[in-house]
Amino acid sequence: MEDAVVLYPSPGIGHLISMVELGRLILKHDPSFSIKILITTPPYNAGSTAPYINRISTTTPSITFHHLPIISLPLDFSNSPNPETLAFELLRLNNPNVHQALQTISLSSNVRALVIDFFCTAALDVATTLHIPSYYFFTSGALSLAAFLYFPTIHHNTTKSFKDLNTHLEFPGLPPIPASDMPKPMLDRTDKAYEGFYSYSTALPKAKGIIVNSFESLEPRAIKAVSDGLCIPDAPTPPVYYIGPLIAADDRTDGIGGRPECLTWLDSQPSGSVVFLCFGSLGLFSVEQLREIAVGLENSEQRFLWVVRSPPTKDKSKRFLAPPEPDLEALLPDGFLERTRNRGLVVKTWAPQVAVLNHESVGGFVTHCGWNSVLEAICAGVPMVAWPLYAEQRLNRVVLVEEMKLTLSMDESEEGFVSWDVVEKRVRGLMESKEGEMVRERVIAMKDGAEAAMREGGSSRIALTKVLNIWKRGCNY
Ligand code: UDP
Repeated sequence: MEDAVVLYPSPGIGHLISMVELGRLILKHDPSFSIKILITTPPYNAGSTAPYINRISTTTPSITFHHLPIISLPLDFSNSPNPETLAFELLRLNNPNVHQALQTISLSSNVRALVIDFFCTAALDVATTLHIPSYYFFTSGALSLAAFLYFPTIHHNTTKSFKDLNTHLEFPGLPPIPASDMPKPMLDRTDKAYEGFYSYSTALPKAKGIIVNSFESLEPRAIKAVSDGLCIPDAPTPPVYYIGPLIAADDRTDGIGGRPECLTWLDSQPSGSVVFLCFGSLGLFSVEQLREIAVGLENSEQRFLWVVRSPPTKDKSKRFLAPPEPDLEALLPDGFLERTRNRGLVVKTWAPQVAVLNHESVGGFVTHCGWNSVLEAICAGVPMVAWPLYAEQRLNRVVLVEEMKLTLSMDESEEGFVSWDVVEKRVRGLMESKEGEMVRERVIAMKDGAEAAMREGGSSRIALTKVLNIWKRGCNY
């Protein structure tokens, strides 16, 4: 029977892409494995995955997709508190499907490992029942791994919610983190999603191992704190494998075989001159904020490529639907597109980020600090301005700015608003100031570190070989 690794990502295109990339990496180093990916179709919008799955099925036959039956959620979406709660609940209800799928796969393969990600913690029980070793794929950095592992300790040391602490938190291996910079669902102890994050943090050490999309020279202090056991003071830390930077394949086509307009536009811009603004798969701004960004960009006099989405809907029943295509003329200030026509391009909704960052005309990146975006910028050697919006991005910013010194910070008001003059100053600072130059030099050095980690004999390659050998030997459960 063949050796199989089963990957079980949370719903959503972002989670799926990360897992597929992990699958590809495994196959590249040991083609004797087969990769099976469990697909959960949520009863809410998490981005269309079908075209992507079709493409991977055709190009990489050793990766097969197993669609789990659709789960209906016994929740009223319009009233449900937040997407995280929905996701935890959905994946808890998914357990019988996961059990069934693993049993079916086991009939024709030796399942050597079940690899899960963030929202799939409930599946650890299934793996235990079936005696399959389970691993987490941690798609953020060691800095947030350190924070998550230590979070239960902080939870037990206080009775207050982070939102009421008004202080800095001391995590092993990290600079002091303002309590308000923790992920939003963790701010309030009474929030249902807080429970999900707490269970996740306490479950992480129960896995056979944690595979992290990062590399040693990027985060030496956080990595040491984790490996020294400082983040889990009263129990053993499982083996942690830093196998990154694993980034999405550079897709230079527009989905129908052509070259995207924004890349053609970049071809005509001077080398290193363009600031790219893009805010992950979910980043949305209000109309007021979009206009402020536009004025800041215009005043900065820099060249720019800006991905703009429609603002969040106020209609709660549409909260989980994909936003409609933006009407740029209506959203942006009067005459903005015309006035900046010779030095700026606004793209609706999505741009091929990896290809853009690697284009030689791009010299700066205003990012929401999603971990994939951070790694993609490092691999392309592009310095950043950090403008975190959701998830663990504020935490990432603290470390990126204060410790790694790979980004400048976009300083927002307490309500999260950034005025045009701050946008102007930061964008100009990134592209023209001494401070911007220093960040650029550090990112370029880190790019070399990333390449070294992934080379034969590099730290990430060694870590990957270690975990694959364990799977190959069929380590006893
Ligand atoms: N991305 C892209 N084009 C866009 C927006 C996002 O290609 O217009 C990709 C980006 O390259 C990255 C992923 O989507 O691989 C976003 O992941 P990240 O972890 O940065 O943020 P998230 O979307 O999870 O918040």
